[in-house]
Amino acid sequence: MSTMLEYSGVHAYYGAIHALRGVDLVVNEGEIVTLIGANGAGKSTLMMTLFGKPTASSGQIRFQGDDITRTQTHKISREGIALVPEGRRIFQRMTVMENLQMGATFADKANFDADLKRMFEMFPILEKRQQQRAGTLSGGEQQMLAIARALMGRPKLLLLDEPSLGLAPLYIKQVFKIIKELNTRDKMTILLVEQNAHHALKVAHRAYVLQHGEIVLTGTGEELLASAEVRAAYLEGS
Ligand code: ATP
Repeated sequence: MSTMLEYSGVHAYYGAIHALRGVDLVVNEGEIVTLIGANGAGKSTLMMTLFGKPTASSGQIRFQGDDITRTQTHKISREGIALVPEGRRIFQRMTVMENLQMGATFADKANFDADLKRMFEMFPILEKRQQQRAGTLSGGEQQMLAIARALMGRPKLLLLDEPSLGLAPLYIKQVFKIIKELNTRDKMTILLVEQNAHHALKVAHRAYVLQHGEIVLTGTGEELLASAEVRAAYLEGS
């Protein structure tokens, strides 16, 4: 299994706030890796350092062997990394179809029809809503669109920041089903950040726990689900 993404000793700051404190993390090709942690632990920051927002102040981030620590933001998507950010930032005033077209901006145009067909297979609601303005979709539908838009760029690595946040239970189930299917059927490599630790650890091959900007625990999804520490801190009541 080859390494796709690797953080080594990554530190990042927002002014005086030391948000990442020497993070080491690996995502291998074909894996679903989950990152869990409390509010403010640095999960989003860890993903955003890939895009230089903020830039890692020290340490190194490698993607498929290349040092991308200081690669410009716009070049990162062309490298094959797609992020579905927290709060699913789709283009509200554009239609569903226009959003999907935007997602394919840097992809090979020859794949467009086949990719669109695959998205409509995976997210049938988007086919029904294709001419509707994205801003009028429900929260769950917007999340589906945000994921589909990212996939239209044919990424090698998909980053999902809290995809189940604020969704109704039925949609939460669907989101995790899609994550699993993307990985098993399309061999997509996925880094998943979640507060919904139970579901997120269940689908994960491996997982990390981030606390105050540091990785404090790592193991297989099953190991972390069974860990007393994780259960007490992140699974209480679920
Ligand atoms: P959440 O689950 O609440 O989104 P998180 O684990 O993703 O939390 P981050 O958003 O990465 O955590 O935040 C890590 C730390 O950096 C927090 O202390 C946060 O207040 C701070 N922080 C995040 N974004 C900024 C910013 N743009 N400016 C200043 N401080 C920030």
